[in-house]
Amino acid sequence: MVTDIAHLEFADRFVRELPGDKRTDNTLRQVLGACYSRVEPTSVTKPELLALIPEVAQLLGLDPEPTPELADVLAGNRVVPGMAPYAACYGGHQFGTWAGQLGDGRAITLAEVSGVDDEGAPQIWEIQLKGAGPTPYSRRADGRAVLRSSLRELVCSEAMYHLGVPTTRALSLAITGEPVMRDLLYDGHPRHEPGAVVCRVAPSFLRFGSYEIHASRDDHATLRALVKFTLERFYPQHVDGDKLDVLGFFDEVMRRTAFMVAEWMRVGFVHGVMNTDNMSILGLTIDYGPYGWLESFDVNWTPNITDASNRRYRFGNQPSIAHWNIAQLGRALAPLVEDVDRLRSVIEAFPGVFSSLHRHSMLRKIGLTGRGDTSMEDDDLLLGLGELLVGPETDMTLFFRRLAQVPAGSGADAAFAVLREAYYAPDDVTPVERAELGDWLKAYWQRIGVDAIDDRERRLRMDAINPIYVPRNYLVQQVIEATERGDRTALPELIEVLRHPYDEQPGREQFAGKRPDWARHKPGCSMLSCSS
Ligand code: AMP
Ligand code: MG
Repeated sequence: MVTDIAHLEFADRFVRELPGDKRTDNTLRQVLGACYSRVEPTSVTKPELLALIPEVAQLLGLDPEPTPELADVLAGNRVVPGMAPYAACYGGHQFGTWAGQLGDGRAITLAEVSGVDDEGAPQIWEIQLKGAGPTPYSRRADGRAVLRSSLRELVCSEAMYHLGVPTTRALSLAITGEPVMRDLLYDGHPRHEPGAVVCRVAPSFLRFGSYEIHASRDDHATLRALVKFTLERFYPQHVDGDKLDVLGFFDEVMRRTAFMVAEWMRVGFVHGVMNTDNMSILGLTIDYGPYGWLESFDVNWTPNITDASNRRYRFGNQPSIAHWNIAQLGRALAPLVEDVDRLRSVIEAFPGVFSSLHRHSMLRKIGLTGRGDTSMEDDDLLLGLGELLVGPETDMTLFFRRLAQVPAGSGADAAFAVLREAYYAPDDVTPVERAELGDWLKAYWQRIGVDAIDDRERRLRMDAINPIYVPRNYLVQQVIEATERGDRTALPELIEVLRHPYDEQPGREQFAGKRPDWARHKPGCSMLSCSS
């Protein structure tokens, strides 16, 4: 059964059950002893819905009809009775340094809505507007978001969902009709851009930083209340009345985080700003900002220009950063744990848990399932694969799709003919590099032979785990430019293609193409900034 936005069933547990800020004005302040501040979105002049994701509407029990009333609510112009909007208070480690209180500076949770999950079981969803105006946490910024960053969040979070990667989702994208001033590259050239609001949806947007803030203030009462709430709502197996199994909960967050990052590595996603305020307590990918997709395989790549010199959040560093972040969460939870040694051992388990998940998914990417966790030959095979990918400039996504099409037993030349499209400069691949490909293939075919998988089966397996369509940086940038020009067809088409990332879609080959040369160094395609 579906209904309009005014008649959804609201739950609002967060604001009812947790301590809130006594003040309700928007003045910037340190908010103590509270998990949130009540705040209303700021209204805008001319809201227009550019996208409404019907499957997400369905999860909420919402009629996906884009009415003016719905546009009003999703752009922040109207709060319907029963909603209790708030901005959450959290802190975080930014680029390795404790940054103190951050909080939702431009995100406002409208409500919690009783709906269903993918399987139709009851699920409460938090619906949150990003870019809906200032809050007590806006610091020196305007509380707004621009079209390009909002469109990027909607497209990528939905793409991740269809790729099978744990993520928050997006219900809608609205433009506000109001310009927002931004300096695209932080180089002293600000300009007006169209403002936008994206409505994000997740069971919760709680982050590591949500716990760190109270621990940093030695406010153990609020910390405990928030952990208890988290366990009751999201980890019920770890709570029994007043007894909190904080270690069990922490262990599960550690495992979910490892899984999430292994999934990022599988599909070639670089988050770009893995600060602890951007790490979900549910192990979901959250806060899509200057993220990017690996086109040419380069473990040192980051799309985030704010991080260009240190490259802390580069592709290949994501697992160690996740580990570091888990350690910060562990530190925040320590006041609630008696046996701190056991807490430490959960932190120390992260690298092993991650490696095992990553190894398994890499083996699956080449059509294998893995023979226990210790086969040296499999490790060598994966190591060799990594070396191949960092040799001649290779498109990660195309490489795995093409490898699935190379007939077993092929030598270097036959394989190269099939893989050609995956190389950025196929004519520059050297004889030595070809020979390395040949050597690796020999070992690979031998290993395939052990598992007795035929070419058909191998391709089926590989195509089910290696996407053909991902939100390539340049594709999304093209859609942003088209949308800014007033084109209203490009965005729905991209969203539609990305709904079936593993299926070849005839006539949509252009969405699978490797990055054209013009996009190599273009802002938006290879370089992005935080908080736009
Ligand atoms: P991010 O880098 O997007 O994760 O943001 C870090 C912090 O800055 C968070 O507390 C955000 O809420 C805040 N922030 C980012 N952009 C804005 C903005 N335009 N207005 C207000 N706060 C912002
Ligand atoms: Mg953030």
